[in-house]
Parts: sequence; structure tokens; C-alpha cells
Amino acid sequence: MSATSVSHRAQGVGSAVVGVLALQGDFEAHERVLTGLGVGTRQVRVPADLDGLDALVLPGGESTVMTLGVEREGLTAPLRELAAGGLPIFGTCAGMIMLDRDHLGILDVATQRNAFGRQLHSFEASFRLAGVSGGPVHAIFIRAPWVTELGPAVSVLAEVDGHPVAVRQGRVLALSFHPELTGEDRLHRFFLSLAGLLPASAKET
Ligand code: GLN
Repeated sequence: MSATSVSHRAQGVGSAVVGVLALQGDFEAHERVLTGLGVGTRQVRVPADLDGLDALVLPGGESTVMTLGVEREGLTAPLRELAAGGLPIFGTCAGMIMLDRDHLGILDVATQRNAFGRQLHSFEASFRLAGVSGGPVHAIFIRAPWVTELGPAVSVLAEVDGHPVAVRQGRVLALSFHPELTGEDRLHRFFLSLAGLLPASAKET
């Protein structure tokens, strides 16, 4: 990929900064994966933390708590504006819920919280994810949502039990599961490549 197509902010790959919403949830695990891929990260807690970001991650956690925090800190409007301006955003688990029509409204989907059953807090599954090479993705689901409705601009990249668990709309990627907890970086690389930010050192050979 050429340096000119790297970022909507026209920064070079080497100076890319990916924000990670750090109000609640497992944001540090996302930072570790991104750092391992040679990407700069910044914890986002207030609107000023969004300045100049090349992409943003909304981590897993509790969508109710995260929603309260986003509203309390005045992040709702800036997040919507950045998304409308084309900022690449990666939501995982509660982060997927945050992106849906009932929350930030950035992704044209409806989700169901804790969709895989109240008793079943956590399970693992392996499946192919469209656009990710190297064999099936091994995924950890923790009180995970699934997508119940989606608009025409949204493509489904993977399903479990017939329900979408990975969707993409342009440069917005949302997963029901936790790729930051499985010790693999293919989903983060996939997102960075959608965002035009994949460092050459992290490209698949
Ligand atoms: N069940 C949580 C929610 O509804 C999401 C769980 C997670 O992010 N692991 O927000």
C-alpha cells in the first residue's frame, strides 16, 4: 500500500495512532495487540483524546456502563461526527453494541445483548471469517451479542449458529467476540488493513 493511500488524515503508517476507548472494559488487551503490530495507541477518555486519531477501537466490557461513560464525558457527538467523516472504527463485543442503531448509530445493525443465552456466559468457537486468511479464526465469546437486523450497506463476514457475529460497513468492523484475548492478531491486522494503516512489518507474507 502506498503512503498516499494510508490514512484519511494523510499521515504515514509510521505515525499512525489508534485510539482505544478506555472508560471501561478490556481496552488494555487491545492496546497490547496493536502495540505488537507496531501501531501507536492512545487511551480515549475525553473528547480531546480523539484529536488526530487515525482509527478507533471500542473494546468489550459492559455496554450499559460504557454508554453512561460516553454520555457523561460528552463523547457521543464527537464519535458520531468522526464516524461520519470516515474514521475507521473497530468494535468488539460490547463495542459492537455501542456501534448499533440503538446506541451510537454508527453501524446500520440491530444487536441482541447476551444473545447466546443467559446461563452460557462464555464459549469458544472456530469459524472462517471472510477476508481473513490463514484458516479458521478461534474466537472467545463472553456474554456476547449477535446481529439481529442489518441494513444494505452491511456485510456479514461470519456467523455462528446462523447468526451474524462479524460484520463490516465500509471502514467500520464489528465482532461479537474478543480477538484481543486469543493471542492472535489477524483480526486487528484485518481492521488496520481496512483502515489503510497496516505497518509493512505486520503484513502477511
Ligand atoms: N454482555 C455485555 C453487554 O451487553 C457485553 C459482553 C462483552 O463485551 N464481553 O454489554
